[in-house]
Amino acid sequence: MDKIKQKIQELIQNNPKCFSSMVKKNQEMWNWVQHNSKIQTGKISEIIYSAISHESNICVNGNKKRFISINDGFGYCGLTKNCLCAQIEISKKVSKAKANRTQQEIGAENKKREQTILSKTNGTATNNGQTAYAKQKHKEFYDNEENVKKVVKKQQDTLMSRYGVSNSNKIHIPQESLDILDDKEKFRILIDKKFYYGYIRRIANFRFGSL
Ligand SMILES: [Zn+2]
Repeated sequence: MDKIKQKIQELIQNNPKCFSSMVKKNQEMWNWVQHNSKIQTGKISEIIYSAISHESNICVNGNKKRFISINDGFGYCGLTKNCLCAQIEISKKVSKAKANRTQQEIGAENKKREQTILSKTNGTATNNGQTAYAKQKHKEFYDNEENVKKVVKKQQDTLMSRYGVSNSNKIHIPQESLDILDDKEKFRILIDKKFYYGYIRRIANFRFGSL
C-alpha cells in the first residue's frame, strides 16, 4: 500500500476533527492528495476522500454528488431524488441489507408477517393462501341451498343471454359450421370471401396451419 496514503489515513483516524488542515499543511501529503484526487475543487475533506477512494463526486447523470463525510464518502447528487444515481445507491443498499439479514432476522420477519395475518383473520390463518377462515366461509356459503340455487341461476342467466340456452351442453353449433371446422377446402372458400378474412383466417391457421 501507498505509504503516504497510509499516513493520511492514520492522520484522519487520529484527528477526525482537524485532519483537513493538517493534510493541507503537509506538503508531501497535499501533493499526493492533489495528484490522486478526482476532484479539484470543493471542501478539502472531499478532495482528500476522493484521493483515497479514487471516487469521483460526479454521478452517472453528470450531477454533483453530496459529500457526507470522510468516512461515509459521497451520497446522491444534490437536487433530485429521482436521479438514477440515487436509485442505484438505494437498490444497492437494499440488496446489501437483504443479503446481510441473519437467519434470526428472517425468522423475526416471518413471525411478524404471520402475526399480521393472524390478527386480520381473527386467529384462523397464518398464510396468505386460502385461509382456514376463507375456506370455512366458502363451505358455509355452499352449505346453504338457497345460495347454491342463486349461483346456478346466475350461470343459467349468463348462458341464456349469450347463447339462448340454460345449459352449456345445449349450446348448439350448426352442423354446417362443424363441417367447415373439419374441412380445409371449405375454409379456403370462406377465406376467399374477403368479408370473413381476418377472423376465419385466424381459426384456419390455428386448425390447419397456414392455408
Ligand atoms: Zn445523480
